[in-house]
Amino acid sequence: MLKLYKQQWHQIALQDVGEVKFDEPLSRHNSWKIGGSADIFVEPETVDQVVNIVRTINLQAIPLVVIGQGTNLLFDDSGIRGLVMKIGERMANVEISGNSVSAEGGTWVPKLSRLTMQAGLSGLEHCIGIPGTVGGLVMMNGGSQRRGIGENVINVTVVDNLGQVHHLSQEECEFSYRHSALQGTGRIVVSVELNCPKADGRDVRREMLADLQARRNKFPHKQPSCGSVFLSTAEMHASVGPPGKIIEDSGLKGLRIGQAEVSRQHANFIINLGDATAKDVLTLIRQIRATVREQIGFELDCEVRYVSPDGCIYPAHLKAEDSV
Ligand SMILES: Cc1cc2nc3c(=O)[nH]c(=O)nc-3n(C[C@H](O)[C@H](O)[C@H](O)COP(=O)(O)OP(=O)(O)OC[C@H]3O[C@@H](n4cnc5c(N)ncnc54)[C@H](O)[C@@H]3O)c2cc1C
Repeated sequence: MLKLYKQQWHQIALQDVGEVKFDEPLSRHNSWKIGGSADIFVEPETVDQVVNIVRTINLQAIPLVVIGQGTNLLFDDSGIRGLVMKIGERMANVEISGNSVSAEGGTWVPKLSRLTMQAGLSGLEHCIGIPGTVGGLVMMNGGSQRRGIGENVINVTVVDNLGQVHHLSQEECEFSYRHSALQGTGRIVVSVELNCPKADGRDVRREMLADLQARRNKFPHKQPSCGSVFLSTAEMHASVGPPGKIIEDSGLKGLRIGQAEVSRQHANFIINLGDATAKDVLTLIRQIRATVREQIGFELDCEVRYVSPDGCIYPAHLKAEDSV
């Protein structure tokens, strides 16, 4: 299997690509704190560096995985035989002008929400407690209270898999519930322009504080997790109820495999008790799905994405059923 070494990388990366690390533990780069190492790990600071990385790996056919803060990802225990590009703190500038908010892809969503509140703008109240980057949020059309960031998008700037830059309108992104047309295309979100209407900053603040308080009461926050593991849709709510409730009703709260446990506080969270492995989590996902299928006759699908050693990203239940 492909294993890239320092010397080999220096021979092929002739252009400026930002800081490069080798054999970087991925457990440092996701909120579950799980996963093996990435052969190569790069954190670009500019769009030019992103373009240079894409062109370099294309020349060598090296698998590429783009991540933000890894708050929706489960990395394999054997890591990634390729290059992980993190669009994070180093690409996180924000500019606000009137109702328009421009944020680089690595911007931390709670910080972005706070900046809009301080500027007397609304629209991101539901995002205040989401611990990811705006690039990841746009990719997933993430949000809360049944809303998605796509509602506020004016346009998204991406680098495609040939290293070319494009500006995509809201329509072109085709946002729907926890989905965007960017998924699976290899496009890298380098910045986002949002429309945030004027509002009274005090009302926005009140709403954000209420959201944070509700999250603190509802969700586990001491142990590592990846937020909601299973997808929750309006149709599901209408027919069988939210995933947390049906997992709890199936008697699965506290179920443990290795060091992975169904949270006793919120059953749609799987927490890492210490040294959980991806295998523990996948086995638990499979067991939860089998029990819910048997007791309620419903197929739970994952919101969390699994990342394979060759750099493919797909809903974690597909991996759980496949190979544990
Ligand atoms: C405690 C907790 C609470 C959460 N609550 C919510 C919630 O209320 N609502 C919600 O929607 N989510 C929630 N999440 C999940 C997660 O925070 C969001 O999905 C978030 O938007 C992911 O951002 P990220 O930067 O961590 O992306 P990652 O997890 O790193 O990546 C997610 C996907 O986006 C892709 N990606 C990331 N950045 C880029 C980029 N710049 N360009 C191209 N592709 C990219 C990755 O390849 C991957 O496919 C929660 C997670 C936790 C741990």
